[in-house]
Amino acid sequence: MSSNKKRDYYEVLGVDKNASENDIKLAYRRLARQLHPDLNKTDPKAKEKFIELQEAYEVLSDANKRNNYDRYGFSGVDVDMSSFMRGGIPGIDELLRSIFGGGMFGGDDFGFGSIFGSRGRARSAPRREVGQDIEDFVEITFEEAMFGSKKDVVIQRYTPCDECEGTGAEDPSSIKTCTECQGSGRVRKMTQSGFGTIIREAECYTCNGTGKIIKKKCPVCNGRKVVAETKTIHVKTPPGVENGVHLKVQGAGHIPSSRAIPGDLYLGIRVEENDQFIRRGNDLFTQIDIDIVTAILGGELNVPTLDYKNEKLTEKELKIPPGTQHGTEFRIKNRGAMYLRGKGKGDQYVVVTVEIPKKVTEEQRKLLEKFKGLN
Ligand SMILES: [Zn+2]
Ligand SMILES: [Zn+2]
Repeated sequence: MSSNKKRDYYEVLGVDKNASENDIKLAYRRLARQLHPDLNKTDPKAKEKFIELQEAYEVLSDANKRNNYDRYGFSGVDVDMSSFMRGGIPGIDELLRSIFGGGMFGGDDFGFGSIFGSRGRARSAPRREVGQDIEDFVEITFEEAMFGSKKDVVIQRYTPCDECEGTGAEDPSSIKTCTECQGSGRVRKMTQSGFGTIIREAECYTCNGTGKIIKKKCPVCNGRKVVAETKTIHVKTPPGVENGVHLKVQGAGHIPSSRAIPGDLYLGIRVEENDQFIRRGNDLFTQIDIDIVTAILGGELNVPTLDYKNEKLTEKELKIPPGTQHGTEFRIKNRGAMYLRGKGKGDQYVVVTVEIPKKVTEEQRKLLEKFKGLN
């Protein structure tokens, strides 16, 4: 496959650019079963397509590689498919097991924590310096969790020093080649051992492997090359977001140098508890108390619910049919939390608690006894 004919990795997997890790895994698993040369005997190009799929998956399933691919396209990633090209394709079962483990994909419930990509990322063989990620959190109300919110998050990060353009030196002439390593950044060390002299190469301590010595440090960053920056990040939390989810704000992390890939900001969402709604998955549960007369004779009462049209909490009249039992659940369709992916909402369940009076007046007691006698 020559690079100019390469198909976009997202296109190969048939997912969109915002696809979650799980979307990518599921798409890969489905296509791998279609295209694996052991299973597909009809398409003469199955092997070629399978290698293309494998390559796309290797990049998009790795947060770091995916990030690079999103930014720089094919030139940002380096995937070695040569062993696959030579025909060394593992059997389909072995392959899927090695990627997914056993039984991990039995259900449809993948949890919300992974929706916005994995926490942290694999840093295998970085080709360019990558800034560190920043972790922070933002607190939102239940209402904001249901309808979405806009938040300003103030973060502290480091960015390249403007004064010295990230060199750490007062001026270019004060940057000298390290005499210890002659600018290579590496030194050879000899150690004597029982087996003779061992020569080992190590990073130069004098210049920390940079090959350069700064005679006069930049007065602004004191030679650190970076300065601290306070930055306000505008974040939109999506409707339906759940407590504990991490939102990834790409590129809002530390920036160690102008040529580096900025780190990301991982923003943990903390949703304030609401005493009227308990969330389970995307369904909401509301507990209401009704008196025994309403339970027996029926009635109407107002229950808290969500008003999606006006994006606020509201109340809705609920009819209690005669003979309603303690613990009865009334379902209000589509008044639960929105799904972050795909369409639709959960439902709201109103759970009835029938209150049994602990004390009755003399008159009530007489009525109740009369009621009992009528049975
Ligand atoms: Zn040196
Ligand atoms: Zn500086």
